[in-house]
Parts: sequence; structure tokens; C-alpha cells
Amino acid sequence: MAHTPYPQSYYAASANPVPERPELNGEVETDVCIVGAGYTGLSTAIALLENGFKVVIVEAAKVGFGASGRNGGQIVNSYSRDIDVIERSVGAKQAKLLGDMAFEGGRIIRERIAKYNIQCDLKDGGVFAANTPKHMKHLEAQKKLWERYGHTQLELMDEKRIREVVNTDLYVGGMLDMSGGHIHPLNLALGEAAAVESLGGVIHEQSPATRIDRGANPVVHTPKGRVKAKFVVVAGNAYLGNLLPELSAKSMPCGTQVITTEPLSDEVAQSLLPQDYCVEDCNYLLDYYRLSGDKRLIFGGGVVYGARDPSNIEAIIRPKMLKTFPQLKNVKIDYAWTGNFLLTLSRLPQVGRLGDNIYYSQGCSGHGVTYTHLAGKVLGEALRGQAERFDAFADLPHYPFPGGQLFRVPFTAIGAWYYSLRDKFGI
Ligand SMILES: Cc1cc2nc3c(=O)[nH]c(=O)nc-3n(C[C@H](O)[C@H](O)[C@H](O)COP(=O)(O)OP(=O)(O)OC[C@H]3O[C@@H](n4cnc5c(N)ncnc54)[C@H](O)[C@@H]3O)c2cc1C
Repeated sequence: MAHTPYPQSYYAASANPVPERPELNGEVETDVCIVGAGYTGLSTAIALLENGFKVVIVEAAKVGFGASGRNGGQIVNSYSRDIDVIERSVGAKQAKLLGDMAFEGGRIIRERIAKYNIQCDLKDGGVFAANTPKHMKHLEAQKKLWERYGHTQLELMDEKRIREVVNTDLYVGGMLDMSGGHIHPLNLALGEAAAVESLGGVIHEQSPATRIDRGANPVVHTPKGRVKAKFVVVAGNAYLGNLLPELSAKSMPCGTQVITTEPLSDEVAQSLLPQDYCVEDCNYLLDYYRLSGDKRLIFGGGVVYGARDPSNIEAIIRPKMLKTFPQLKNVKIDYAWTGNFLLTLSRLPQVGRLGDNIYYSQGCSGHGVTYTHLAGKVLGEALRGQAERFDAFADLPHYPFPGGQLFRVPFTAIGAWYYSLRDKFGI
């Protein structure tokens, strides 16, 4: 069986110690078998173990191998489509439950970091940057919307104020969320894996689930072993492939790319982002960036529908970075990598149950660092028989991509091209 290492990235190069976790060999029995050791799987495991369940995780590669170990590290609250979209598509009770939960993921992350003493460079403060007056109007409406659900720690920033926190002339204003922030994403995943093990959970790496036998007593098969469980939680997200065709039918893996500069001097780093907040802009195809713990600029952007790996990532992302910070034109790029997230047509996550005992959560469509932590808690509640919050997610309507498996990539790319043109011209 091939050993799948971490892709080369700044995160892999600066990871805390990574213990080897053995491949599954033979048969084991447990209460819950979780497929995938990203944030969804790890967060679910912690929620279950803290409540007395026995848990075994099978991971195809390594803890945090997927998006959870490669992302921009931005703690962004709420969902990829906002609560107003939810309000329009579901009833008031369901919208209220989902709206109340929209900022919970960030709190869960901070609780876990504190409780399990996870070293992952946590910094508070996230900025949504408006490129156009239309974006600014959107942020003003979003602030009002979030405040209706009790999320009141937000500050609108005019053109002068945003320059105090982001030293670029690209923006007309923005919104600061002090309950947002940033982390070293792989070190968060590794810390959570250590928490799983400290609670008695078992993680098998290099152990892809190749088949799941459904029924009263589900069995998860891997190349050299199998796990008999009362429940299975599927948390493979964009890396799941076709293990469960029901899950791949309504979602599409997409790639997004990240570059990391060489370490900047304290003076330069401070001049770019004086308060060390993270930033994402409001474009349909958005740019996101922040400083690392050792003062590099980590800059991401772009979307590749269908998740093909671009051959020259630096050539795609560096121009975006220089448009934002032309002062970095002589700075070297030390790392460039790609990672996959899972897009749904509504951009809202897909959560549910197949039969009585196979649960899943996937498709947070780009903003998943906070959502996946919330999802783990909500899945844990559902397995304990408290399904009200789980049902609020599970009842969200979802549709297949137009064009089916064959044409969903070009159709979605055309849609995105249309929306990015609107952003470009501010309409
Ligand atoms: C480059 C990039 C930048 C991003 N930036 C941000 C950001 O700044 N802020 C934000 O909120 N969100 C961001 N996201 C999204 C966020 O990272 C994801 O939504 C989130 O990490 C998904 O977590 P997950 O656990 O569901 O999936 P993943 O982290 O992808 O984990 C899935 C795991 O399942 C494993 N797996 C798959 N199939 C199997 C199988 N058959 N058997 C066993 N294991 C299996 C995989 O190996 C993988 O480890 C970004 C995503 C990417 C790709």
C-alpha cells in the first residue's frame, strides 16, 4: 500500500511533531467509525469521546492531509451563503436555529485550543474588505443581519479606517470581526488529533475506507482491515471520491491555491497588516491573506472548478498578491500549494443520514474552518439522540449541479466568470 505524505506546503514544513499513526490491520469493533481525519472528523470524534463514546478514525493519508491542513487559516464566521439566503429558503424556526449557530464554530475552536493546550498561533481579528461601494452596502446589510441573531461584535470601517489595518489602496471600506481570526491550520488539526487520542480515541492513518457495508451493523473496510461499528460518520469532504455515490452526486470538488513568502522583517510585516488581522475580500472569487506566526505573508485565491491541480501556482497567485501589496515585488515565494474544498450548488453545507446509522457532513463551499467544528458538535449531539440542530442543517434543500457529472465543471465556471465580471465592474 502506497504511503501518502503531506503535500509540500509551509504548514507541513512548520508542523509541530507529527507522530506516525499505524495503518489499520485486522478487525476492530467500536461505537463510532469516522472516515476522514480533517476538522469534521476530528471535531466529531472529540464531541463523541467527551461524551463517553468509543471512536475509531480511519484516514486515507495523514491527519489534516486534506483542506484542514492546507487552508488559509482564517477563522471566518457564518456560512458560505449567508443567513438571509437561509431565511428565504426555510422556515423561521430553522433559520433561527442556524442563525444562532453562525458564530459558534469560532468559539468551539478557541475552547478546544484552550482545553487541549494546542499550539497553533491563534490570533484574534478578521477583516472583510470591500473592493467596491456595492460590496460595502453588502457588508452594512450583513452586519444588520448578523446583529439580528445576536452577533454584535462587528465594526464597519470606512476607507480611512481600513487603511489602519490593511496597508493597501484597494479597498473602499470593510468590516472587522474580532471573533474571527487566524490559526496555523495543520497544527490545529494535529493538536485535535492528540486530543482525540488523549480521550481514548484511535486514529489509523494510511487506511482509506474502500467500502462501507450498510445495514443494522455497518462495517467500514480498508485495504488491510475493517471496523465494525454502531454508527459511521463520513467526513471525507472533497477527497472522498465516489465512496458513497449519493454524496458525490450533489457536490463538486474545487481547488484553491495558496502561496507563502519568505519571512518578512518585523517592520515590513507590521507595515502591511499592523494589527495582524486576517483579511478576505468580498469578490465572488475572493483573495484571502494573513501573516504567519513567523511573519510570512500567506496569500490565497482563485478557484479551479473540478479541482485540477494548476502547474504553476505562483504564476496565478503572485500577481494577486502584488496587486494588493506592490511593495512586495522583490520578495521571494518560498511555498506554493493547492487544496480542494467541496462546493454545493447552494453553497450551504450538506448534512444528513443514510439509513439509520451512517451520518455525514460535507460541502461547506470554501468557508469551512468554523463550520466543520460546529458540524462535529452537531453530529455528536445527533448521535446522542439530540437531533434538533442536526435536523436544522439536514433539512436545508440541495440540488444537483446543472449539466450533471459531465458538464457541471464548465457550467459552473461560466457562472463564476459572470459573477467575477460583475465584481470587476462593481455591478
Ligand atoms: C487552499 C484552501 C484554503 C482554504 N481557506 C480557508 C480559510 O481560510 N477559512 C475557511 O473557513 N475555510 C477555508 N477553506 C476550507 C476549509 O479548509 C475546509 O472547508 C475544511 O478544512 C474541510 O474540513 P473537512 O474535515 O470536512 O475536510 P478535509 O480537511 O478535506 O478532510 C477530509 C479527510 O478525509 C480523508 N478521506 C477522504 N476520503 C477518505 C476515505 N475514503 N477513507 C479515509 N479517509 C478519507 C482525506 O484524506 C482528508 O484527510 C480552505 C480550503 C482550501 C482547500
